[in-house]
Amino acid sequence: MRLTAVQNDRAAGVLLATAAGDALGAGYEFTYPAADAKIDMIGGGLGPFAPGEWTDDTSMALAIAEISATGADIGRGAGLDAVAAQFRHWYGTDPKDIGNQTRAVLRAAGTTATAMQARARSLPGRTGGNGSLMRTAPVGLAYLEDAERCLAAAHEISTLTHADEQASEACRVWSFAVRHAVLHGTFDGVRVSLRHLSPPAAQRWAALLDEAETATNARVFDKNGWVVHALQAAWWAITHARADGPGHLQEALELAVRAGNDTDTVAAIAGGLLGARWGASAVPARWRRMLHGWPGYRSRDLVRLGLHTAWGGSDDDRGWPTAPEVDYSRYRTDRRATHPHDEGVVLGGAELLRAPGFDAVVSLCRVGPAPHAAEHVEFWMVDADHSRNQHLVFTIDDAARTVRALRGEGKTVAVHCVEGVSRTPSVAARYSMLLGRDPGDVLRVMPWAEPRPALWWAATEGRPAACT
Ligand SMILES: [Mg+2]
Repeated sequence: MRLTAVQNDRAAGVLLATAAGDALGAGYEFTYPAADAKIDMIGGGLGPFAPGEWTDDTSMALAIAEISATGADIGRGAGLDAVAAQFRHWYGTDPKDIGNQTRAVLRAAGTTATAMQARARSLPGRTGGNGSLMRTAPVGLAYLEDAERCLAAAHEISTLTHADEQASEACRVWSFAVRHAVLHGTFDGVRVSLRHLSPPAAQRWAALLDEAETATNARVFDKNGWVVHALQAAWWAITHARADGPGHLQEALELAVRAGNDTDTVAAIAGGLLGARWGASAVPARWRRMLHGWPGYRSRDLVRLGLHTAWGGSDDDRGWPTAPEVDYSRYRTDRRATHPHDEGVVLGGAELLRAPGFDAVVSLCRVGPAPHAAEHVEFWMVDADHSRNQHLVFTIDDAARTVRALRGEGKTVAVHCVEGVSRTPSVAARYSMLLGRDPGDVLRVMPWAEPRPALWWAATEGRPAACT
């Protein structure tokens, strides 16, 4: 399916924001953060986890995405078997944490999906844990063209470990909502999905969503190890965050953690939908720099798997995000200049990505990994106006703040886009403003620059609503 630039941003945000919520909540699992406690990626928790490390929620979502990113039909046949096998593979790596119900299935399940589902059905007692809902977001991405197959796949993948009907219903609601948010940029899919449930289930979930929207305190959904309360707590956080855009994503994830108890899971569930709504460009670089986890992945891998899933297993027409080097040979990529207000910052075109001698590279266009720099921070920006950039003011400000943070850590920084004509001077100008200097000086040292008016305005006049 061919997506717009903005839909691509939202598809790229699904796994990224799942992981951000997960890593944000990891350090607070089974606690209730005080109202005035700062919520941050502090690490700790059950792992114990490093700051910025995601837990089983994201790892299991990645196990699904690893298969969906090949373009396989994960809802049946060989694709569903491959997902089951990937769950077993993850279990075999001795994960730092795992839900009780998932463990009970995976430690004894056979190798096929059918055998795994049979094992899940055989478990005694309550089987409505939140462990299938927490990983369901990529299923929404895998079926952007077909809502019915999305719903069917969500059910099949949920029942690999959770036989409970409410777990399946929750996965269908949430996967549908993720899909809807990527396509349409709204949260409406949560309600629209109910049309696809049986009438009694639709009525029950409508009342549960009402309850989440009207509750004044998330303690009402305190038993959020249960799939119903987990969905309600996530929806409570999303519908009670007041900010708009990237600020809404951050505020809602913090609220999801403040809901308490199974904090990483509730925030991971909320994150999947928030990322689908607001996009990768709404996830602050400060979080993206910290994110990491099983199986040795970082933020760029989450974007890659999300896009490959949405694109049915293929790259874009430049070979991105797979290619180690994106071909910009048709462009003038060799320009460079030192920032007028900070000699530790060099500005230019795509050749800077491969230039030795920088501690960090800040990329403002689609690229492969930076081969020499110890740190590479990428920003989702299109060289176009607001119609193709969801959060231009926030993104430019976030990029400039990232340059300032990297400089504060004593790093030399290269900032580049393809030709260094529009995006790079705009971010450089914003950095000048953060330093209290004249942004116009940037254009003196980059005489070739011709920033698009929308970017220059965003850089020099824009007021970001929120930035961590
Ligand atoms: Mg977890």
